Amino acid sequence: MRLIFLGPPGSGKGTQAERIAKIFNLQFISIGDILREEIKLETLLGKRVKPYIENGALVPDKLILEIMRKRISNNQGFVLDGFPRTIKQAMGLDEITKVDKVVYFKCNSDTIVKRLSNRRICPQCAKVYNLITNPPTDDEICDNCKTKLKQREDDKEHTIRKRIKIYKSETLPLLNFYKKKSILEEVDASSGVDEVYLRLKEVLSG
Ligand code: AMP
Repeated sequence: MRLIFLGPPGSGKGTQAERIAKIFNLQFISIGDILREEIKLETLLGKRVKPYIENGALVPDKLILEIMRKRISNNQGFVLDGFPRTIKQAMGLDEITKVDKVVYFKCNSDTIVKRLSNRRICPQCAKVYNLITNPPTDDEICDNCKTKLKQREDDKEHTIRKRIKIYKSETLPLLNFYKKKSILEEVDASSGVDEVYLRLKEVLSG
């Protein structure tokens, strides 16, 4: 199975993609995670993409496509989280491989802002928390490795609003792109993680 999970930032597509990858034995590819790792390691690529990410802007298509071309394997099924995000990227992906299904995680802007501004991440083990729906046991300390949790620079409210704006102008047009190919499915992503997961499994087995 070759899947794309598409949706606004904070729609929970990354969390669901990881779960689905495990049960269906798919390669989980999160371009956001790949870029953040490069930044953490202070590589040349990391230094190039850091200003875009911290400002909530999109990294140029050419760079993203170069990275994805190396990551996507034609021998194994995969689930893509955060890619493609523009029509140019979707056209580039068409040249790399065929996709079976695109799942759109539908979620309104108020829910997104609430989720993202409460998201915290462990800088050590990368575990993701939400201070309201999935808080750590100890105040902002990682349950796994006891490291102090951090807020992603691009999860500050001003940057979240900017990311949503860019999502609407650059990424939403992909819905039509994939509708025309008759591979688009939709999931209501505004409820809790387990509920969304059940709906998602139904959509994928249909
Ligand atoms: P994410 O973790 O998916 O929310 O991505 C975090 C940030 O990485 C985005 O706000 C962009 O700056 C950058 N990014 C991730 N995926 C892409 C993409 N497909 N195209 C361009 N920039 C991206």
